[in-house]
Amino acid sequence: MIQEQLHSLILPDSNGNFGQHGGRIGHPALAQALAELEAGFHSIIRDADFIGEMKRLQATYVGRPSPIYHARTLSKRGAQIFLKREDLNHTGAHKINHCIGEVLLAKKLGKKKVIAETGAGQHGVALATAAALLGLECEIHMGVVDIAKEHPNVSRMKILGAKLVPVSAGAGTLKEAVDSAFAAYLEQIDSSMFAIGSVVGPAPYPEMVAYFQSIVGHEAREQFQREQGGLPDEVIACVGGGSNAIGLFNAFMDDQSVALVGVEPAGEGLDKPGRHAATITKGKFGNIQGFNCYYLQNEDGTPAAVHSIASGLDYPGVGPQHCHLKDIGRGRYETATDTECLSAFLALSREEGIIPALESAHAVAYALRRAAELDSSKRLLVNLSGRGDKDIDFVLGKLNFA
Ligand SMILES: *Cc1c(COP(=O)(O)O)cnc(C)c1O
Repeated sequence: MIQEQLHSLILPDSNGNFGQHGGRIGHPALAQALAELEAGFHSIIRDADFIGEMKRLQATYVGRPSPIYHARTLSKRGAQIFLKREDLNHTGAHKINHCIGEVLLAKKLGKKKVIAETGAGQHGVALATAAALLGLECEIHMGVVDIAKEHPNVSRMKILGAKLVPVSAGAGTLKEAVDSAFAAYLEQIDSSMFAIGSVVGPAPYPEMVAYFQSIVGHEAREQFQREQGGLPDEVIACVGGGSNAIGLFNAFMDDQSVALVGVEPAGEGLDKPGRHAATITKGKFGNIQGFNCYYLQNEDGTPAAVHSIASGLDYPGVGPQHCHLKDIGRGRYETATDTECLSAFLALSREEGIIPALESAHAVAYALRRAAELDSSKRLLVNLSGRGDKDIDFVLGKLNFA
């Protein structure tokens, strides 16, 4: 069986564009390497050995398929709420889906090493895991401010054998880590592959990461039809860069009765520039880190400061497929504030015994709000992108329970 294909609405043209978004902008040496990566990716996904190996690892290593759970207590608010349990994957989130794909691809292309940036460390841990599994070196660039904040993930990456490169330039956070990782990649371009953590960056990353995440939606659509009958009315996912959302949406693209809803972080309020990260909702069109999309901008067009209670959602840009789905009216983009996120985090923990990642809690927050507007015959399917072990101390601190 061939791996799930991407729907034509979210496949790029030959220049890597999705409508006006996407593309491949920047350093010529990088453009050459990325064109080669794209060719390698397109050939390898037609290779039965590659697909077979990926399916084997998805089943026996990640633990796929992840179940769909009917959250009956949460559903007392109105509409029925179902959760696609990506939090049950090995390493606790959806990121392992594309990290295994990327590292497997790097290995088949004869590369010795994968290089990446990480913000909160979630992508770094998932990539270090996949690299350990498949026997590749792994080099992770991380801002010094983030290193100080994200101690458990830093320890995990070290234990998994990754080389951690601290980045002290500028603010010492994600943006500087991306620049540092790209610079390191340019110096080792023949022996290494850059592994991006979401459906962002220049082509082919948005297409490639979406392809590896599409397993989520294909499983979910088939499971829902088999176990519940019919299709959900809305499929819902949080949107940082947009990988867990596009992975879920892809399989439902032709089902016109199914609304595709992305939930962006409204932080402390959409009226507070610098204190949210609602990129599609409030951003302007332009080019950021090698591709075109809507992004949050300062007056002079530079990327604005962003904030979210969930560090996996605080990126000023967003995947080009989501911008395109918004433009053509197929995707709907809503928001949830930090406060709504915290209350959804607690509701899911206390009413269902599932502690979600703060990122995923944004999608749950919208679902709770939406369920109360609808009657009990309606069905909402939420991508529970990750588990909240990483967030428990932070949440306790916020709530002053300690
Ligand atoms: C990183 C992360 C996200 C945000 O990334 P997307 O590319 O928008 O999916 C969401 N949920 C969890 C649990 C994450 O770790």
